[in-house]
Amino acid sequence: MSTFVIVGASVAGGLAAETLRKEGFDGRVVLVGAEPVRPYERPPLSKEYQWGTRSEESVFLKPPGFYEEQGIELLTGRDAVSLDTRSRRVSLADGSRIGYDRLLIATGASPRRLAVPGADLEGVLYLRTLEDARALRERISGSSRVVVVGAGFIGAEVAASCRRAGLEVVMLEVLPVPLQRALGPRVGQVYADMHRAHGVDLRTGEGVAELRGHGRVERVVTTSGHVFDCDFVVVGIGVAPETRWLEGSGVEVHNGVVVDELCRASAPDVYAAGDVASWWHPGFGERLRVEHFDNAQSQGVAAARSMLDKEIPYAPVPFFWSDQYEVSLQYVGHASGEDPVVFRGDPGSGSWSAFYLRDGWLRAALGVNRFRDVSAARRLIAAHVSVEPEKLADEGFDLKTLAREVARSR
Ligand SMILES: Cc1cc2nc3c(=O)[nH]c(=O)nc-3n(C[C@H](O)[C@H](O)[C@H](O)COP(=O)(O)OP(=O)(O)OC[C@H]3O[C@@H](n4cnc5c(N)ncnc54)[C@H](O)[C@@H]3O)c2cc1C
Repeated sequence: MSTFVIVGASVAGGLAAETLRKEGFDGRVVLVGAEPVRPYERPPLSKEYQWGTRSEESVFLKPPGFYEEQGIELLTGRDAVSLDTRSRRVSLADGSRIGYDRLLIATGASPRRLAVPGADLEGVLYLRTLEDARALRERISGSSRVVVVGAGFIGAEVAASCRRAGLEVVMLEVLPVPLQRALGPRVGQVYADMHRAHGVDLRTGEGVAELRGHGRVERVVTTSGHVFDCDFVVVGIGVAPETRWLEGSGVEVHNGVVVDELCRASAPDVYAAGDVASWWHPGFGERLRVEHFDNAQSQGVAAARSMLDKEIPYAPVPFFWSDQYEVSLQYVGHASGEDPVVFRGDPGSGSWSAFYLRDGWLRAALGVNRFRDVSAARRLIAAHVSVEPEKLADEGFDLKTLAREVARSR
């Protein structure tokens, strides 16, 4: 009987295990996870779970008992510490070893840590796990002032959730606007205005020099010398792919585990999926590593199929969303914040979209209450077409019909 081992029991790993069974694999499936609980969704942890509109139980991907019923051996609270690709074994922190015929690496990403004096004071929080989310919820309910370090998606969503709970919020960002790396300066400015309009004291071009307090954090000193008193601090300065346990394994790692479009890593019978995987996207003609839920889900499924020799190249149009205040953003494609952007509709209004172009090609689009634009853009991006910026900006130009025509002509 073949043994398929999956390391990382979250979205990518959980979906892969489930898919192996759905696709009829009747060998042994071992799903190893460092966290003490079964796979769950992280997106609600900065939003609905903090607002109190989603319970803890609702974040789990599957009901208790599911993995057992499926014959999936779920090992929770177990850290993989090394991989030997010659003897095909994964070693765990408790000294045990698991042999595999095929292995999926789905160890995701971990928050980057703040490296300044005082960063280890009590009350300096990060947000990645359910445990982190519980700690944050408790702090929010018992506090009145927070400093959020970093205005990426996690920082911006946490700031919005804290404002919703009535806290005074200072948000520090080293770049000129929030979300600049992902969405660029112009869309980032829209978010800067939105956070300020909701009462966030947003300081841009501003880093953290030091955290001060007696045992627990009481104030933040910024790089330009401002001092902000606070009850706690939330740090959201990005994540790094979790590949430390692969050191010495020979598996190629370069900004994540390097895989091809079939999710295959450099070692035989080793695959990777989700936040940890850097894969060759044949459509975009470049390597992507995507840190979003939809990709973790669909790449987990794709990797499982690949492990079963059902070889379908993984070339999706990536998708993600972010909810801040009453604004729900949807994004399709893959662009850099440096790519030129074209707006459609007034970004100061409640309904608008933005399109990212590179060398004339439509690379990505985002919409705020603009599902029809996002859905048309998804098809245009998949078809790899160039669209004139004037047409994208023109509200009277029918993108949906264009997308249909393009799809039909292929
Ligand atoms: C607060 C928050 C909000 C988010 N909101 C959104 C959103 O609105 N929209 C969106 O698209 N995306 C969102 N994301 C991102 C999304 O949740 C991630 O892209 C997704 O969780 C990635 O899934 P993954 O399975 O690849 O990795 P992860 O979810 O990171 O899971 C990896 C798992 O592997 C385990 N692990 C790591 N190392 C080892 C080891 N050595 N041994 C054993 N186990 C190990 C980890 O403990 C973890 O459980 C959010 C993320 C967070 C944290």
